[in-house]
Amino acid sequence: MHQMTLAEIARGLADKKFSSEELTKTLLARIAQLDPQLNSFITLTEDLALEQAKAADARRANGETGALLGAPIGHKDLFCTLGVRTSCGSKMLDNFKAPYDATVVSKLAAAGAVSLGKTNMDEFAMGSANESSYYGAVKNPWNLEHVPGGSSGGSAAAVAARLLPAATGTDTGGSIRQPAALTNLTGLKPTYGRVSRWGMIAYASSLDQGGPLARTAEDCAILLQGMAGFDPQDSTSIDEPVPDFSANLNTSLQGLRIGVPKEFFSEGLDPRIAELVHTSIKELEKLGAVIKPISLPNMQHAIPAYYVIAPAEASSNLSRFDGVRFGHRCEDPKDLTDLYKRSRAEGFGPEVQRRILVGAYALSAGYYDAYYLQAQKIRRLIKNDFMAAFHEVDIILGPTTPNPAWKIGAKNSDPVSAYLEDVYTITANLAGLPGLSMPAGFVDGLPVGVQLLAPYFQEGRLLNVAHQYQLNTDWHTRSPAGF
Ligand code: GLN
Repeated sequence: MHQMTLAEIARGLADKKFSSEELTKTLLARIAQLDPQLNSFITLTEDLALEQAKAADARRANGETGALLGAPIGHKDLFCTLGVRTSCGSKMLDNFKAPYDATVVSKLAAAGAVSLGKTNMDEFAMGSANESSYYGAVKNPWNLEHVPGGSSGGSAAAVAARLLPAATGTDTGGSIRQPAALTNLTGLKPTYGRVSRWGMIAYASSLDQGGPLARTAEDCAILLQGMAGFDPQDSTSIDEPVPDFSANLNTSLQGLRIGVPKEFFSEGLDPRIAELVHTSIKELEKLGAVIKPISLPNMQHAIPAYYVIAPAEASSNLSRFDGVRFGHRCEDPKDLTDLYKRSRAEGFGPEVQRRILVGAYALSAGYYDAYYLQAQKIRRLIKNDFMAAFHEVDIILGPTTPNPAWKIGAKNSDPVSAYLEDVYTITANLAGLPGLSMPAGFVDGLPVGVQLLAPYFQEGRLLNVAHQYQLNTDWHTRSPAGF
């Protein structure tokens, strides 16, 4: 039962082959048995899950239908969940029970999805290895000594290990696509503004975007359908009609123009990954796509720009955690300054503190113009590069990550080497574009992802290309040994 995709679950539930309650119980038992090895959940909500499953079964019995009605999922632990701990992977929020549901959570619940729990993540979504969580590192089910990627590493590990068919994640600089690549999943970062950020604890507000992690593009379409849509509570939500993301999955790729940027094959790229990307290109050519070499000349500036903008926004967003209103409060503060200082020093881990310091520095008088303003200008240049490229091509393709999953701890003493792993994903966030990672092979037994980028609001095109690729390849069907 645990091997089923969301699409298969939807068919099975519709055909009354099993109930949502049975499926939920099966997966909860599987989580209890296998998750101790992986650490992919921070909080399990068994009672709520069974309640939601029974309610979904009752709705089906009353004639209601829907692809998500009764489908088990998990939420990255930065989506606020009413009455349930929402920790953001941080000691700071270890005691925080959200007083409301995030829009993504309430939309999926209304569609009948059953939430089994809250998944582990890098602290405040800062990281690409899921090692900065207060709740401990998450293990990659493909090799338990390796990281699953981050920051949505708990969602990725749980779905890859077949503990869940799909889960929500968020992507500020790659945190959906990168863990998807490192665990053999399909992950989609939608266009900025497509999915509401209301109730999604902010890391870098101008870059953060929620999206689906699943095994197939078909399943990403189903989950995204439940998440997307205009939300008046989020001032950056965009009032665009939400198309039927499953409707165009079967469109032919004949004549599709795929741009391959030369900058995506830079020095740091593992040559074995480069080879798998070229193999995927050949596969898409067989399906009728036309390949065009292109250039994104400002890509080399993306990492420095991102690692100014994201920490700058984080330093501002995280100032709300002051020990007064919510979250961790130190014992016996001497005075107000001591309360702020010690609550924050005790509540935030080292990576979060590093980012707050970098961000506060970049925003300080005298440095603002030199760093923050420059980074914003680079951001515009990167967007312009994409706009020019999309005049010539329909989609852009490249590797998702320069390397496969590394060993837990391998990059701990060198944060910059971890930041460099984001080189291919962060440009989409800086430009606000949608991006998808799909399974494309293995290196040393570890999964490799290929990334597709599309113009604004063309998530359907990404899903179409990935679905056609998945109809003709079987990488996405492979499951890790022991799971
Ligand atoms: N690895 C990037 C960072 O640490 C991206 C994280 C994310 O997308 N949330 O900022």
